[in-house]
Amino acid sequence: MESPPISEIEAFVSTPFDYIIIGQRWNWGLNNILNHSIISTKIDEIEAEIAVRKSTGVLTELVMQQYTIQLDWLKNKEGTLPHLEFLLFTQGLVKSNPKACYFMMAAGAQHPRSRGSVHISSADPVQEPAINPRYLTEEFDAFSLLAGYRAIEKLSQTPPFTDIIEEQIMPAAKLSDDEVIQYIRQTCISGSHYMGTAAMAHRELGGTQSSRPQIYFPYVLSGVVGSNLKVHGTANLRVADASIIPLPIAAHIQATVYAIGEKV
Ligand SMILES: Cc1cc2nc3c(=O)[nH]c(=O)nc-3n(C[C@H](O)[C@H](O)[C@H](O)COP(=O)(O)OP(=O)(O)OC[C@H]3O[C@@H](n4cnc5c(N)ncnc54)[C@H](O)[C@@H]3O)c2cc1C
Repeated sequence: MESPPISEIEAFVSTPFDYIIIGQRWNWGLNNILNHSIISTKIDEIEAEIAVRKSTGVLTELVMQQYTIQLDWLKNKEGTLPHLEFLLFTQGLVKSNPKACYFMMAAGAQHPRSRGSVHISSADPVQEPAINPRYLTEEFDAFSLLAGYRAIEKLSQTPPFTDIIEEQIMPAAKLSDDEVIQYIRQTCISGSHYMGTAAMAHRELGGTQSSRPQIYFPYVLSGVVGSNLKVHGTANLRVADASIIPLPIAAHIQATVYAIGEKV
């Protein structure tokens, strides 16, 4: 079943369970939520910004290729590789009144553009590594979560949710777009699907760290393993975990990690 546009949601929802079915495994494309011109404008902005970064040489070839694939998904595949995931939890994370019932709706960006980093912090292997997820450093990620927030708001104002929701707790008030983005920046958490720190990609998709401005230092510099999972430049060292997934996929990744393990 095709996911309907958010503006037509009333015609499709008669029980809260329908919400799950409509979301096609709880996934929804931005094209189900936003009108075409808004998405086109965002795509134009991203393309212009990538062109600037390309001309100044601050992005590695690996990140350029990731961004090219992600743009293609956004432009041409939102119906099949939706950008947003919607989750309905039967218990809320907040329970300010123990006698009341709560549930929670959340939206997750499946194809974030922001890139984090993990580096050793010391020659001592027992020391914790330096991890910087750099969540929401790309403006588009906050924008798409804003779209997700508005979609959830619309759902919560649609029967039968209107029949069962007495009060919105978190956030309690109606917020402007700027306030929602601020709220997202304060409250957003990871879905714990960390990946890509030892990306499976060609070795030459890189560049030297020293040739890049410090601000872009966190970007993954090049491919680490080949399709046989062998670390480039080594004789027989393999990596078989989530770190080799070369860019965020529209799925919870445990099954993919098992499949990666089967390759060794
Ligand atoms: C709270 C939570 C909920 C999740 N829920 C889901 C879900 O519902 N569905 C889904 O698909 N995915 C889920 N995930 C994601 C999924 O669990 C991970 O993507 C997956 O486990 C990653 O596998 P991995 O092999 O890369 O790393 P891990 O599973 O983390 O394995 C790393 C292993 O290395 C070991 N290790 C670490 N340091 C050392 C060391 N110095 N020496 C020796 N061993 C070491 C650790 O003990 C661990 O066994 C969830 C993750 C979290 C954190």
